[in-house]
Amino acid sequence: AKRVVIKVGTSTLVYPDGSINLRAIDQLAFVISAMRHRGREVVLVSSGAIGVGLNYMGLKQRPKAIPEQQAIAAIGQTELISIYKERFAIYEQKIGQLLLTRDIFVYPKSHHNVLNTFEALLKQNVVPIVNENDTVAVDELDHETKFGDNDQLSAIVATNIGADLLIMLSDIDGFYDGNPNADAQAQLLAHIEKVDQHTYELAGGSGSRFGTGGMVTKLKAAERMIDAHGQMILANGADPSVIFQILAGEPVGTLFG
Ligand code: ADP
Repeated sequence: AKRVVIKVGTSTLVYPDGSINLRAIDQLAFVISAMRHRGREVVLVSSGAIGVGLNYMGLKQRPKAIPEQQAIAAIGQTELISIYKERFAIYEQKIGQLLLTRDIFVYPKSHHNVLNTFEALLKQNVVPIVNENDTVAVDELDHETKFGDNDQLSAIVATNIGADLLIMLSDIDGFYDGNPNADAQAQLLAHIEKVDQHTYELAGGSGSRFGTGGMVTKLKAAERMIDAHGQMILANGADPSVIFQILAGEPVGTLFG
């Protein structure tokens, strides 16, 4: 895989107490800069704007109203990207920010413009950092309906820029045959060739406090990668250097496809 998309979830970037996991961000910057150095083209899709925004504003909870969440996202995105910029600079790696909506790839004109931007950034050795544009799209914010849609955005970006590998970093070691938070007996599945109805039935389950939607959107992302003859690896982002193991072909997490 010459071109790789890496997606990090909020759980990797923000501690449960709301503070920012600078160690993880720093490691991410190190790993991605090293990958670039070895000739790979890397795109980072990063969640975390709201979490970082809440921390920045000294708030403990996300506001209920969508416009207020959008405001927090705008504040948090600014802070998050400046942290990335600072950390990547330590490794002499430049970054560029792209705020996208999923429908961008539906319209030929914007599709064309976005692809050109990705190509121009990658050609200049810049790491594109992507997030959903929360000012325009509220999918990622609307937890009731579409939880965690940066997952799908990352697969849409990957398939459109011709990346054949999507590395999805989450707060769990991989995909299990049941929700590990509800079932202590759940087993990690190392390889899933095809995502079907049965796979979706293994994701989440009633009564789980979080993540049900999150795992479903991850499976949708995997399905999209497989349809495009690519692969997705779901792994734990607690230690982002896991990416080195993945690229070395070691069996880590769950391989889809
Ligand atoms: P992120 O913030 O990294 O995007 P999410 O919280 O959205 O992560 O999704 C990950 C969560 O999905 C896990 O922590 C776990 O609680 C839940 N989950 C539900 N079903 C499964 C499953 N079959 N295998 C693994 N995790 C699952």
